Amino acid sequence: MNLELRPEVATGYKSLSQKARVMTETWAEENLYCPSCPSDNLNPAPTGKRVIDFSCSNCDEHYQLKSQSRPFGYSVANSAYEPKIKAIRERRNPNYLFLHYDPREFKVQNLFLVPKHFMTPAIIEKRKPLSANARRSGWVGSNILLGNLPLDARIPIVKDGYEVPKDAVRNAWSRFLFLREQTLYSRGWLADVLTYVRKLDQETFTLSDMYEFEDQLAKLHPRNKHIRPKIRQQLQILRDRGIIKFLGRGKYQVI
Ligand SMILES: [Zn+2]
Repeated sequence: MNLELRPEVATGYKSLSQKARVMTETWAEENLYCPSCPSDNLNPAPTGKRVIDFSCSNCDEHYQLKSQSRPFGYSVANSAYEPKIKAIRERRNPNYLFLHYDPREFKVQNLFLVPKHFMTPAIIEKRKPLSANARRSGWVGSNILLGNLPLDARIPIVKDGYEVPKDAVRNAWSRFLFLREQTLYSRGWLADVLTYVRKLDQETFTLSDMYEFEDQLAKLHPRNKHIRPKIRQQLQILRDRGIIKFLGRGKYQVI
């Protein structure tokens, strides 16, 4: 993977944003590989001005690329809200690739993948409708709340200017594929419990450590009155899938 962008592909464009778009799209077309299978390239399918979809002709996974010249933060603006929620419910949503480039050095600094199986309605925020004066008055966009995702949902492909080995990327991808077999409801629970396991940032933890998050989890799942049994159930699933290990007596180890 060559991390240099090629400014020469954008010479015909005037505005900086157009230049940036062409450079990052060309880069992706020339350098991206499929994280979900052994295929070494992805096919671009332009869909709009700022969005480009890629698909893998081998495994048929779809990826949507979002590029910007500053690091991605807690939240990132995205497409129309209702269609997005509908796509998630119907499991038609794409995987996301978030690319951060250095506009002075013309270099890819960070690129991470958020697999579609981590996407739930809970991490999509509804934006205010556009004002009456706006060209698309009344249009309702969305934000993807990257900060609410467990760390496992952000798979680095390029980190701080260095490429992550392909094997590591593909392993990280396949580790949580089991989420696709779960309902949207249980995927949400699993991701939330995993988020708090990661927040503890400890090699081992106890059930009481996890019960400390009871209030936060209750807020995220207001209709559920049995938060503690739900936490235990998610930990069991994470154990069965080899993400954590039971050490006995309410103690767990992160693998
Ligand atoms: Zn593939």
